[in-house]
Amino acid sequence: MTLNPPGNKILLHVCCAPCSGAIIEKMVAEGLRPTLFWSNSNICAAEENARRLEVLKPYAAEFGVPVVEDEYDHGKWLEYVQEQLPAGRSLADFPERGERCAACFRFRLLRAARYAAAEGFDCLTTSLASSRWKSLEQVDEAGRQAVAEAAGSAPKPLVYWAQNWRRGGLQPRRNEIIRERNFYNQTFCGCEFSLPKTKDNK
Ligand code: SF4
Repeated sequence: MTLNPPGNKILLHVCCAPCSGAIIEKMVAEGLRPTLFWSNSNICAAEENARRLEVLKPYAAEFGVPVVEDEYDHGKWLEYVQEQLPAGRSLADFPERGERCAACFRFRLLRAARYAAAEGFDCLTTSLASSRWKSLEQVDEAGRQAVAEAAGSAPKPLVYWAQNWRRGGLQPRRNEIIRERNFYNQTFCGCEFSLPKTKDNK
């Protein structure tokens, strides 16, 4: 698979090192130099956010790609997602791949799109759907909406680069990199509603 981005100035929203490792490797191998945008206020604890980010940083440095850190504000994420849900429904009412996740993707990709627009990037893409647990359709829809919403502030056109990052051998490569690097591979997606169920956390 040869990559064909709609421009060379690429902002890659990254959700974690395990999901983005193979994408970064592939882009750099093809002569692309994305800027990585870390915006993951969905993560329910600041320590967990920092832990995931610290796994990414040395990997990005090795490939010579910069990392931009967005603010971390889980309260703002909770408020936004709640507002997006139908009246009377709470975040805990939805399973993974449901409406809570669609709003979660919109929150993060809108922040990324606003940054991309302000900084004159050609395109925005994301590692969010590189895991088979995520809905590619939901992620791409959120990306397109985010770019459309941020486009007004862009000095030049910004495009959402919809790409299936599981194809072209990237899914097995993703898993190899996790093993080779012994990456911290988190056991939950990020928000409190995705934590594994225990006796005390039903
Ligand atoms: S399960 Fe994951 S994608 Fe869904 S709302 Fe929680 S953090 Fe976001």
